[in-house]
Amino acid sequence: MELNENARVDTSQVEDRRGSGGGGGMGIPIPIGGGRGGIVGMIIAVLVALVGGGFGLNAATNGGGSDQGDNTSLEQKCSAQDALEQLDCRNTLYVNSIQAYWRTAMPEVFGEQYKPSKTVFFSQNVSTGCGAADSGVGPFYCPADDLVYIDLTFYRLLADQLGAQGEFAQPYVLAHEYGHHVQDLLGTEAQMRRQQQRDPQSANTLSVKLELQADCYAGAWAKNATGTSDEQGQKIFKSITDQDIQQAIDTAEKIGDDAIQQRSGRPVNPDEFTHGTSEQRKQWFTKGFSTGDPKACDTFGGTL
Ligand SMILES: [Zn+2]
Repeated sequence: MELNENARVDTSQVEDRRGSGGGGGMGIPIPIGGGRGGIVGMIIAVLVALVGGGFGLNAATNGGGSDQGDNTSLEQKCSAQDALEQLDCRNTLYVNSIQAYWRTAMPEVFGEQYKPSKTVFFSQNVSTGCGAADSGVGPFYCPADDLVYIDLTFYRLLADQLGAQGEFAQPYVLAHEYGHHVQDLLGTEAQMRRQQQRDPQSANTLSVKLELQADCYAGAWAKNATGTSDEQGQKIFKSITDQDIQQAIDTAEKIGDDAIQQRSGRPVNPDEFTHGTSEQRKQWFTKGFSTGDPKACDTFGGTL
């Protein structure tokens, strides 16, 4: 994968809350992987909470618009010559590409307007429209405030603990989260939640379908990513190789429910699956990628 060094990083699409003290400096940060239980708990939570499922739906207090991060330093950093050597600037550019894709694809494919959503960079803990969260939950989308949340140190864990190496794991993760945003905009997520309430026994099965669809949407973005541009019309990616796509597929496999359960030393129990098996995640990402068409991502098969 090669990014275009002339592409402008649009930092207005992210909100930098790192170091802004998400909990007002009062909270005790919960360390990542403090012990065996911590690591295991974290790895499980990573996948359970990607859609905010782990959080209470009625958040205590929503920070609302008052919690805007100060992006000045990020803006400066990401307009510098060597911006793309910085993890946060690269990730901002990935967000730019993903949203540029959906801005065109959503009206084309679904006949609906795309509404942009910011990604919040946080460290350790953050207050969200879905309640308070710490890094342990991994990246997630909160349907209540329409924001994607990520502690960028997650990628280290992905590489070190889960063995998902490679840069392209990063845009895959972000594209998956934006897939949830698209589901939110299309009403798929709300329909799915209602269905879960009607039929609690299939709650996990429905969750798996939602997650696999987000993987498929990520694949559709990956297929079309080289066509995305910044606001000045500069291409964001110079190239995406087969090896990059393989990295995304590897990541999807590594975070399959069965793989996670095995890794944590627990018996594999399909009843507890919420995100899909390695095979399913790989399959649906690949389906999105090979077709390049979000319409092909009908994991619900008309059952919603
Ligand atoms: Zn998810």
